[in-house]
Amino acid sequence: MKLQFLGGTGTVTGSKYLITYQDKKILVDCGLYQGVKNVRLRNWQQFPVNPAAITAIILTHAHLDHSGYIPALIKHGFSGPIYCTKATLALCNILLPDSGFLQEEDARYANKYKFSKHHPALPLYTEAEARDSLKLFVTKHYHETFELVTGLQITFNPVGHILGSSALLIKTKNCKILFSGDVGRNNDIIMQAPEPIKERPDYVVVESTYGDRRHEETDPYQLLEVVINQTVKHGGIILIPAFAVGRTQTVLYIIHQLKAKKAIPDIPVYLNSPMAISATEVFCQHYKEHKLSKEECHLIDKGTHFIRTAEESIALNNKKFPAIIISASGMASGGRVLHHLKTLVSHQKNSVVFVGFQAPGTRGDAMTHGATQIKIHGQYYPIKASVYHLDSLSAHGDYYEILHWLNQLTQPPKMTFVTHGEPVAADAMRLHIQDDLGWPVRVPDYLECVSLK
Ligand SMILES: [Zn+2]
Repeated sequence: MKLQFLGGTGTVTGSKYLITYQDKKILVDCGLYQGVKNVRLRNWQQFPVNPAAITAIILTHAHLDHSGYIPALIKHGFSGPIYCTKATLALCNILLPDSGFLQEEDARYANKYKFSKHHPALPLYTEAEARDSLKLFVTKHYHETFELVTGLQITFNPVGHILGSSALLIKTKNCKILFSGDVGRNNDIIMQAPEPIKERPDYVVVESTYGDRRHEETDPYQLLEVVINQTVKHGGIILIPAFAVGRTQTVLYIIHQLKAKKAIPDIPVYLNSPMAISATEVFCQHYKEHKLSKEECHLIDKGTHFIRTAEESIALNNKKFPAIIISASGMASGGRVLHHLKTLVSHQKNSVVFVGFQAPGTRGDAMTHGATQIKIHGQYYPIKASVYHLDSLSAHGDYYEILHWLNQLTQPPKMTFVTHGEPVAADAMRLHIQDDLGWPVRVPDYLECVSLK
């Protein structure tokens, strides 16, 4: 068996790992490169292996940095099955067409303002191509071991990162390999903790998004209670830029709990993001896979005003009474939240609460680091609103939580490969695994190929 690293090396995006077993090629994750330009350009390069020669894709979870290249791979000749859990497919149904739509928007924008070197600029794939790709998905239950090709078995194990997320155990007669996917938190408010893998894999491929960091221990209930009460007292609006999948549902649940305890007044809550609304519906349909009951999901649903159309979204900006607006994107890098920021950020009475990881270079990162003005759609807005950062609500385990999960393996593996981290974070994770667990470990290079014996 051979393992080649086609992505997720030196960056947190573009996760793709190729397993060659006998004459079969299997791709674990098929992520889009995101972030800085040099990395994004890889989405446009020729794929390192012939996509038509790949037998199947196995998907750890729905986030685009793990799934977003699938429609492009199909365009270039891949036609095999794509295996994942049911909830992962439900989320891909939302995320992939949206990604295609955004690719088309970008191409249209580039053509209109003529800033692309390519004439005309083309999308990586279209919304229609993304919808078509969903026909190749095949769902499996957690813990259901199935034979993908003769002699090679796969099992999805819950790993608590987002709905449907899995660590993959791949077994042949002579070799076991564990892919962590993205690992969740030990004590998340709504997701179950990552399940221990009671096996001894020969090889482990582990993520390192937070390889060099521990999460802050801010109590999200306490922070939101204080911020909401203070802002209401001043007659302001609380704006929460949030990730559509996962964090939005957590924030809605916390607000619901605070209201039930009468810790905050019963002010209206608006969810202004069609994608977050769809993700909340999927979240409620799969209530058996997280900590909330069907009834709690129903209460969140009932207590939230869903804003679907652009007209409703524009009308929201005219609201003069205290309210909570949750809107994507989570780092304020695009989406409807920008329109709210433009209206709200220059008034002292309002508050903006960022939730989870804020990538360098985003507006969320600038604002949580004390920026005094922010540029939106070509114009600068002074920041007078109070700005907060709830980092403790991240969907990624920090290095300490990942070490705890790894340490539950029955024996150390022969080798651990650290991936899916920026270079500094990946190397810090390597040192933690080497020093704290005493395991053999290294950080592989892009396109490196290793033989697994
Ligand atoms: Zn993820």
